[in-house]
Amino acid sequence: MDETQTGQHAIDFYRHQYDELGARLLRARHELRAARRDAARQRLIARIVQRLYALAGEETTDERVDQSLGEHLVALLVEILQIDCAALLAQTPAGALVVEHALGLETSFRLSPSAPLPEQPSTRLPAPRVPEMSEALRAQGLQHWLWAAHGGKVLLLAHRRQQPLEMPLTFENGDQAIAEAILGFYLALIEQRQAAQALENARIDYRILFESAQDAFLVIDGHSARLLDANLQAQHLLGADFAELQQRALIYWLDDPDLIAWRRRWRRALAGRAEQVECRLRSATGQPFWVEMSLVRIGPAKRGRLLLIGRDISKRKEAEERLRHYAFRDELTQLPNRAFMYRRLEAAIQRQHQEPGYRFALFFLDLDRFKTINESLGHSLGDRLLVTIGQRLSACLEAGDHIARLGGDEFLILSDQITGADAAEVLAQRMEQALRTPCTVNGQEIFTSASIGIVLANRRYQQPEAMLRDADIAMYQAKRREGRERRYALFDPAMHARALADMELERDLRRALERDEFVLNYQPIVQLDSGRIKGFEALVRWRHPEHGLVPPDRFIPLAEETLLILDLSRFILGEACHQAVVWAEACADPPVVSVNLSGRQFISQQIADEIGDLTAQHGCPSSLINLEITESAILTDKEMALAGMQALHAQGFKLSMDDFGTGYSSLSYLHQFPFDYIKIDRSFVNRITEDARTEAIVAAIVRLAETLEKQIIAEGIETPEQLATLQRLGCGGGQGYLFSRPVDAASAMRLFQDLPWRALFTQPGRGLAADAALGGEAGDG
Ligand code: C2E
Ligand code: CA
Ligand code: CA
Repeated sequence: MDETQTGQHAIDFYRHQYDELGARLLRARHELRAARRDAARQRLIARIVQRLYALAGEETTDERVDQSLGEHLVALLVEILQIDCAALLAQTPAGALVVEHALGLETSFRLSPSAPLPEQPSTRLPAPRVPEMSEALRAQGLQHWLWAAHGGKVLLLAHRRQQPLEMPLTFENGDQAIAEAILGFYLALIEQRQAAQALENARIDYRILFESAQDAFLVIDGHSARLLDANLQAQHLLGADFAELQQRALIYWLDDPDLIAWRRRWRRALAGRAEQVECRLRSATGQPFWVEMSLVRIGPAKRGRLLLIGRDISKRKEAEERLRHYAFRDELTQLPNRAFMYRRLEAAIQRQHQEPGYRFALFFLDLDRFKTINESLGHSLGDRLLVTIGQRLSACLEAGDHIARLGGDEFLILSDQITGADAAEVLAQRMEQALRTPCTVNGQEIFTSASIGIVLANRRYQQPEAMLRDADIAMYQAKRREGRERRYALFDPAMHARALADMELERDLRRALERDEFVLNYQPIVQLDSGRIKGFEALVRWRHPEHGLVPPDRFIPLAEETLLILDLSRFILGEACHQAVVWAEACADPPVVSVNLSGRQFISQQIADEIGDLTAQHGCPSSLINLEITESAILTDKEMALAGMQALHAQGFKLSMDDFGTGYSSLSYLHQFPFDYIKIDRSFVNRITEDARTEAIVAAIVRLAETLEKQIIAEGIETPEQLATLQRLGCGGGQGYLFSRPVDAASAMRLFQDLPWRALFTQPGRGLAADAALGGEAGDG
């Protein structure tokens, strides 16, 4: 029994052993098979991935790369895994699963899982059961399936029939790994492809931006200063292609570089501070131009990349230059302007304070009657006159002197070659002389003159304003001297007070007309052969409520400047007409009343009509009025003056040329004008007894007048000797203090009747009986 028992034990033992072995063997075989399957799976995965990767590589130009890649994937899976269906499903935002790519599954397949798809961990657990999915897939005729989900995508692999065991894929639990691995790989590939595409797009975008930019871009290695890239604009700007650009050091392109400043900018840019600078570059052809340049570091500091962005600003610079030019230049005359002169003056004043020996003078020049010229001849002619005058004045100056036009008809001259008053006067005279020749503009001869105020610099002047003001004051003083030889005045401090008084006077003048402060005085014009009064010159007086009688020399220029002269002249003419009519009613042989026309009252057809109308309004026959006109009044525009004077003459007015001899070239064209009288200026009469030459001149004027059939009146006769000389020379008429000062109308009438100077005409040798002469014998000469 024992034996049997023992044997049975042994059998049991071995059987057990055998079973154990068998089980182990089975297990081993199973493991082996599992390992083989795993290996097969790995191989399958590898094959699929390889193929997919190759396909993806070919698809680089396909914009919708993930689209076609998905199609390739399902096809590959069906082919390699020998299954009936492979599908990529994507989850919509609402949670539904829709087909993206599929083989063996209708593309309209749609699934709405009741619960969100569980995100599977990468264990090789079977895909969780989703009841709706099983039903739906069976409805599609699919029997076996597995799926993996990741990132909102589902990869589904399925069979229609039960597969025999030999088939490579039996959807064991381990096969799940294939789906997971492939899906993961696919998604990674897509992601990578998208990233690559985005990168490529970005690169393209960058290139497009880089190349199509209006600005020049240069990418530079900040450490070696080597050029890495340059866009077309940069090549265009510098006139060199990229290879040429790379050949040269960057510094080559800089025009006149300040290396220290550049190095500083460079360092700052590398440190991350964007730098901006305006600089001049030179193109490959050597053409300089302006650019605005920014230096910007791109990328991290370590990389040291600098981007130079350049923009051509030559046009802007040009415009700025032009602006600067305009800012300091007078556009019309192309001379420097006030702003320029102001700076010069400032510098000169400063220099004078630093250098004791430094001297300079400022000249303020203002054209006389320019306003009239401008208004009557037109602005374009006036402009051309200003240009000519600017040129003439410039020609008077020495190197280093400065001239500027202040605007209008004012010029400033600054000269530091002036050591004192004498030198200043020499320059002023030179300028006067330069303006003396008439300017021919548009075929018209225009006579001009200017008034010049001069200030000698002294250390009291701290500011240009003060000096300009004083030059201006001196100029006004000079203007008051109109008609005199000298038209310039040197500033002296007394002029200040005068200037202030002028301002007051101007204010008062405006009120004087309304307040009836003007009166006319009359100075007799006497026939030098008989002593009879043939007329009176009306001379205006201003009875100022505070200052008393203000002489016309003091206020007429002021009235002319302020144009008050127009109203004043109307009053004077009206008053004179009134008086002429009164006298005409009282006398058988009434005196003619001479009225002075202002130099500023431009003689024109219009003025002629106005004068005609005014005299007519007063019921005054034109034959009772003699109009005195100075030479300068007609010189501005001779043609127009001639027409105006002919009109006046035709209306029956007598015309006198006033202040004859103080003008320039009057004799040469005197005969063209319809003057009846020529009034020899009192500066000749003054000297006639002392200076033989003056007597000769007056004798010549008298002879000329005879030839031209004009009558002569000598002004300013103060002594019997002067009277005697003028009588001897055959001068027909005269006026002066010898006979009478200007007096009021009533006194004038008494003079007319009494002739208190008659004794002068009854002297033996004259052969004239005063009484007989006064009896009414008409005859002059
Ligand atoms: P004018 O037309 O040459 O007038 C003559 C000036 O000489 C007057 O000065 C007169 O008083 C002055 N006079 C006359 N005889 C003598 C003399 O023997 N010796 C001296 N030293 N002077 C003499 P007045 O009245 O001061 O006028 C000065 C200027 O003012 C005038 O010069 C004229 O240009 C202007 N003026 C005077 N009245 C008027 C006027 O009613 N209208 C205009 N537009 N200007 C006037
Ligand atoms: Ca006069
Ligand atoms: Ca006169």
